[in-house]
Amino acid sequence: MRKYNASKRILVTGGAGFLGSHLVDRLLARGDEVVCVDNLFTGTKRNIEHVLDHKHFEFLRHDVTFPLYLEVDEIYNLACPASPIHYQHDPVQTTKTSVHGAINMLGLAKRTRARIFQASTSEVYGDPVVHPQPESYWGNVNTVGIRSCYDEGKRCAETLFFDYYRQHNLDIRVARIFNTYGPRMHPNDGRVVSNFIVQALKGEDITIYGEGQQTRSFCYVDDLIDGIIRFMDLPRGRDGEPGFPGPVNLGNPGEFSIRQLAEKIIALTGSPSKLVFQRLPEDDPIQRQPDIRLAKDKLNWIPSISLDEGLSQTIEYFDKLLAN
Ligand code: NAD
Ligand code: UDP
Ligand code: UDP
Repeated sequence: MRKYNASKRILVTGGAGFLGSHLVDRLLARGDEVVCVDNLFTGTKRNIEHVLDHKHFEFLRHDVTFPLYLEVDEIYNLACPASPIHYQHDPVQTTKTSVHGAINMLGLAKRTRARIFQASTSEVYGDPVVHPQPESYWGNVNTVGIRSCYDEGKRCAETLFFDYYRQHNLDIRVARIFNTYGPRMHPNDGRVVSNFIVQALKGEDITIYGEGQQTRSFCYVDDLIDGIIRFMDLPRGRDGEPGFPGPVNLGNPGEFSIRQLAEKIIALTGSPSKLVFQRLPEDDPIQRQPDIRLAKDKLNWIPSISLDEGLSQTIEYFDKLLAN
């Protein structure tokens, strides 16, 4: 039962992960009550250690592929492993998490009439032939490759969100998140920013896959969380009409080749590390850059933290982590 006259009660699934834990911090800081649900597959209690005793915080170890009965006002659905190494470890569970997890969280939102946010991804565009990618682009995704469990799971989740929106008038918010980095990334999750920083700090070889000409756009976590909360806080339309459900791209449009990223990290850490070139993984997208005109227009949002500034914060975090 909801408490009378309480602050907003917000469910964050995947709240012990990289992005989820930053979101939890921001919601607690503005006075919301937060219930964090996580099965700790890739997340860790260390990410939420500092709020475990907070009077407005509650942690539930639970797998979102199973039903969940709670009373909440808003749901942020972030539960899902995000790095290729993690989501390919148990690909069937990855699809289940995206699809069954979405059904359960949408069922919960339908029963409680809670507004619900979905952390979708730029991977719905696959290996894009349109560049940069606007939301109107339908993508170029392999249905049977090793990335498909994640890409197709996330695509199906978007479909479910929009069907609950049309069929049950749910208040949904779907954001397509592009590569995001920052403190609390998992040091061994194989993602490029964490790999390169850890390698540079340890003076090990920097592993570039392929020739390093493929591009990505990197958004610092604080900018991203700001965009997510702005989107979630947009009011509904007049008379409870659905507001803006998305999908909307959230990311930093600055585009860098993987080689440029490696060189930047070497310069910022002053590392003696050398670049080494390894095999490019299957279905690795050649280029990716968000078109964020819709986010600018609807959310009045643009990222403000430069890659150098964000990398410096992230390097500082990993430096401390490795020292322990
Ligand atoms: P992460 O792996 O750090 O966090 C995911 C969290 O979900 C972890 O704490 C994990 O334990 C939890 N989880 C996984 N399966 C679960 C299940 N079945 N039940 C309950 N909890 C489960 O990854 P992240 O980078 O913080 O990503 C968060 C969300 O944002 C994911 O949905 C991801 O797909 C999406 N996203 C992230 C990025 C990025 O660059 N970080 C880009 C696009 C989309
Ligand atoms: N569900 C849940 N929590 C709730 C309500 C529903 O986990 O508070 C799950 C439930 O297991 C169900 C799913 O969400 O299978 C979808 O719910 P919905 O009401 O849309 O469909 P139905 O109950 O008809 O399957
Ligand atoms: N990558 C790399 N070396 C690494 C890790 C990743 O060259 O040690 C490349 C990877 O092949 C991809 C890019 O960096 O082209 C981004 O990889 P990541 O796994 O971070 O994200 P995604 O491919 O999902 O965008």
